[in-house]
Amino acid sequence: MTSTEYTCCICGFLDTDRSAELADVRSNVRRFSRERFPLWRCTGCGSIHSSRQVDLKEYYRYYPYFQQELDLVLRWAYRRLTRRLRRAGLDKQHHVLDYGCGSGLLVKYLRKKGYDNVVGYDPYSEDHGDESALQRRYDLVIAQDVVEHSEDPLEALRTLDRLTEHGGWIAIGTPNAAGIDLRRAEKYVHPLHQPYHRHVFSLSALQQAGENLGWRLEKTYFAPYTNMPVLSLPFMHYYMRCFDGTMDVLFERPLASRRLWFSPETLYWLIFGYYLCDHADVVAIFRKSE
Ligand SMILES: [Zn+2]
Repeated sequence: MTSTEYTCCICGFLDTDRSAELADVRSNVRRFSRERFPLWRCTGCGSIHSSRQVDLKEYYRYYPYFQQELDLVLRWAYRRLTRRLRRAGLDKQHHVLDYGCGSGLLVKYLRKKGYDNVVGYDPYSEDHGDESALQRRYDLVIAQDVVEHSEDPLEALRTLDRLTEHGGWIAIGTPNAAGIDLRRAEKYVHPLHQPYHRHVFSLSALQQAGENLGWRLEKTYFAPYTNMPVLSLPFMHYYMRCFDGTMDVLFERPLASRRLWFSPETLYWLIFGYYLCDHADVVAIFRKSE
């Protein structure tokens, strides 16, 4: 590895004495789960970087998230997300952009709930790939699971900034490198999500990068909206471990596992999982200056 590969694209730190914490981890997508991907943590800001250059197009071709549907569980999660956004100041008249909306399930959900001015944009979506959505500014820009996928995370934040009205909000849901222990990389295989997550901010680095754009961090949630009572994020991680430990399991929803039905661990995670969610994923709600 050359020294340029140890230059942090988030804080600019150049690790000349090669002190970076290193690890490698498998992919949590079944098709690639035998592949391992090297990671390093910036000593300067604590962010985690994926160091192997890959042809991401090939990996996105088999992306399990494309199978997601707006079912009861996801509606429940979106209800929690909407509640958080309302607490931040969202109302039904606001213009909202879901940037990186995938197949547009959140857009569909919010419109059904009476948020008529919600649009989605995703360059990989046939229905939401229209770039005219990027020609205006919004009261709220949501970027859930977006910035960590970018090869240039600061540019991703600048894009969000360009799309936000002065005084508007930017809601970023992303893994938090500060909550990930690279010595136990397998435990964090899902937030690390290799090779799709290229650069994972530490929360403090994200806050600093936001402040550099004139944003103020208004609220931080140390659990994603998908961490729900009973079907908590730690339970979902356990559920995946009952099978082959890949995220494909979440979309296939298999039930044929002795461990799932007969291990006391199942009950443990169902009851206590919600309270045991670690800080490996955060939602940071920023407000852009007036
Ligand atoms: Zn850094």
